[in-house]
Amino acid sequence: MELLIFLTAVLFFTIFSAAASLPKTWSLSSLLPNDTGPATISQVPIGAVIDHCIVPGTVALTFDDGPYIYTPQILDTLSQRGARATFFLNGVHMGNIHEYTDVMRRTIAEGHQLASHTWSHPYLSTLDHAGIVSQMTQLEDAFASIVGIIPRYMRMPFLMFNPLALSVMAELGYHVIGASIDTKDYEHDDAGQIWLSFEKFKAELNAGGTIVLAHDVHYNTVNVLVENMLNEIEARGLIRKLHPLPLPGFGF
Ligand SMILES: [Zn+2]
Repeated sequence: MELLIFLTAVLFFTIFSAAASLPKTWSLSSLLPNDTGPATISQVPIGAVIDHCIVPGTVALTFDDGPYIYTPQILDTLSQRGARATFFLNGVHMGNIHEYTDVMRRTIAEGHQLASHTWSHPYLSTLDHAGIVSQMTQLEDAFASIVGIIPRYMRMPFLMFNPLALSVMAELGYHVIGASIDTKDYEHDDAGQIWLSFEKFKAELNAGGTIVLAHDVHYNTVNVLVENMLNEIEARGLIRKLHPLPLPGFGF
């Protein structure tokens, strides 16, 4: 079976929302019968949680909670392997985004995608409308001042949300990304334990998962897990290929 892998959580997602009763095998073009060209960001569903790549056999690596002290090492590893990924950033969480402006610029320059994980990583379900909007716009302002772009993709902190949070994302035009391979690397940030995350990665890959959630803020993720996930992807004969479209997720 020939499989392709696009190591970027961008346009090839299926719809997870219960409201969308679409089979997961649908391609984006089949959602857009009048479109014969390549997909663009404007064609990705908004306000519905997307947790699968749309093209069978593709996988997307994503990293949450940065930027942080380990992010440059992840970039080194990805660069060595010719892989691309998506980074869901916070403004103030593990690190302060204004202390990582060079890392953000490097991430973009090396072809990865930057996305939003809210300003300070709260449970959005605890906030009112204005509070949720503020979590998104504070980070947009930081993105605009640091790299001159704003994100169009986001992931809910803790993968938790309520209908209000989802409706605000629709209002603000965000594509909401979930995960179908959750490494739970934050529970196993130990040299003797990180293998549990790798085993979980393989099991959920076997089960058909396609969007991989890990964190670039944990030592053992950066030093052990990422390399092993990339090895596994190669061992399975998946072909790494850069996303063929202009980088989405950006733009005013
Ligand atoms: Zn997070």
